[in-house]
Amino acid sequence: MKHQYAVIGLGSFGSTIAQELTRLGHDVMGVDIDGERVECYADKLSQTLIADGTNDKVIAELEMTAFDAVVVAIGENLEASILTTLALKSAEVEQVWVKAISEPHHRILSRLGANRIIHPEHEMGIRVAQTIVHPEMLDYISLGNDWLVVEVKVDKRFAGKAASELPLGDDELRLALVKRGTQVWQSPFEDLLLQERDQLVLMGTLNDLLRFSKAQ
Ligand code: ADP
Repeated sequence: MKHQYAVIGLGSFGSTIAQELTRLGHDVMGVDIDGERVECYADKLSQTLIADGTNDKVIAELEMTAFDAVVVAIGENLEASILTTLALKSAEVEQVWVKAISEPHHRILSRLGANRIIHPEHEMGIRVAQTIVHPEMLDYISLGNDWLVVEVKVDKRFAGKAASELPLGDDELRLALVKRGTQVWQSPFEDLLLQERDQLVLMGTLNDLLRFSKAQ
């Protein structure tokens, strides 16, 4: 299903989000106060506009409430980030996702009703640290309370074995998917035989996942 998104602030963070949403097949409006930035993305996004996000009138005229989500990716300019979020929330835009650069910034955004507050460098730092410590973990999503969804590679020991033979413990770990190149299998896996370098998507607590990765 095609969604409509807007990204305000086309620095490196905002433009990456805007281009990835476009690549995923959605309509994206890119907004920036800087004409040169807007020019760079004019033929990469569905729509681009030179405008000041802090201006209530601009937000109202753009009918931002019609968008599925609006991302505020204004980096260092705290005042502009806060005022843009305020303008969007005052216009009753339902989903407003905002990049924060500090804890006080986070607190203000939270008070203004930002739906998701992102700390890109902090989040990426944690992700990199986790994958340095657990190199077998290709990617993960933290679900909170120690629960994670992780993607790991099958190593030699499990190659040739059936997916159903994996030592998942008594219901502690769940195998959600097996991925091989562009092919994806979902549970039940029946007699699917694993190959080296298949990717497993597992869900469980950190301890159970660590136990499993040691068993691999
Ligand atoms: P990053 O760290 O992601 O590269 P930057 O701070 O470099 O972030 O980029 C933020 C972008 O937000 C810049 O392109 C800047 O022109 C834009 N910007 C700043 N203030 C406003 C505003 N009031 N309205 C719209 N865009 C803005």
